[in-house]
Amino acid sequence: MPLARRICGGAVLALVVALALPAPAPAASANVAALQSALTALHLYRGFVDGISGPLTRSAVIRFQRRRGLLVDGIAGPQTRRALGRRGRPPLGKRVMRLGHFGWDVAALQFLLLRRGYGPGRVDGAFGRLTHRAVLRAQRARGLTVDGLAGQQTIGSLRGRSVSSGPGRFLRPVPGPIGDGFGARRRGGRRHQGVDFPVSYGTRVGAAAPGTTIFAAPNYGGYGHLVVIQHPLGYTTWYAHLSRITSWAGERVDGGTRIGYVGSTGYSTGPHLHFEVRRYNTPVDPVPLMSSAVAASAGGRRARTKLECRGRTDPVKAPRGSSWIARERLCRW
Ligand SMILES: [Zn+2]
Repeated sequence: MPLARRICGGAVLALVVALALPAPAPAASANVAALQSALTALHLYRGFVDGISGPLTRSAVIRFQRRRGLLVDGIAGPQTRRALGRRGRPPLGKRVMRLGHFGWDVAALQFLLLRRGYGPGRVDGAFGRLTHRAVLRAQRARGLTVDGLAGQQTIGSLRGRSVSSGPGRFLRPVPGPIGDGFGARRRGGRRHQGVDFPVSYGTRVGAAAPGTTIFAAPNYGGYGHLVVIQHPLGYTTWYAHLSRITSWAGERVDGGTRIGYVGSTGYSTGPHLHFEVRRYNTPVDPVPLMSSAVAASAGGRRARTKLECRGRTDPVKAPRGSSWIARERLCRW
């Protein structure tokens, strides 16, 4: 079936009219992510390690500076970074990072790997086996020397813009090109509220960015089996028509964590992923916000502890913070 003929329920349902253009998403920085990672370890920062400097990051820096008797300006300058000790050094690019290393540069590297969809595990500054494997995957995918050592070449490749559009805040949830784009006309004069990836049934779907799953259940209005993830800065991502859901309401996900598989549930004429990005519930065009990297290779502890339903429920093993109702519905299929 031609891509243009695919009919997708997401667009039929959505009633939100985009009255205001969203503010451009701020560019994420690996150094900000390293700072957030250090402040998280000190229990001063409770936000997402998203590389975006906002009020939460700033107030965490201020708390740290107060605690250590530094000049309180909310800016992580050389003095503040020195006071962070092992977590504040060395700068990214100063050394060739390898298995066993620890520090600021490793956290920055992990963030770059995460953003590109290589699944380095947590952004915690510790170059462990997951990070090592992620470096190998990245080097292989980018045509670099595959040695597991993260030096200038690897960092430069991960840092470089691989797309001319946008800051690449979101990974592509599945591989492959986009079929129907955002704003395409639909029957009844409606507009398509997301983009469609025409990929085969059963393709693994990865979370486009770190966040928390807030909906993971059938939607009877047209989206079919639907997962919605809440991200910082008022963003949500929507993954519709799934054949199977592997996330649950309340799950914290990283970019690349598997959340389900492509299907054709709901108003859909063939297997595809309908992907939406909303800002404060207003659908926006995902394309300028997406990097070229695919959220295909999930890594980290979260991915491994993920609930596998396979048609049965087991309340004893319910993950902390998961919604009972969502789980039960999830597991009933
Ligand atoms: Zn669609």
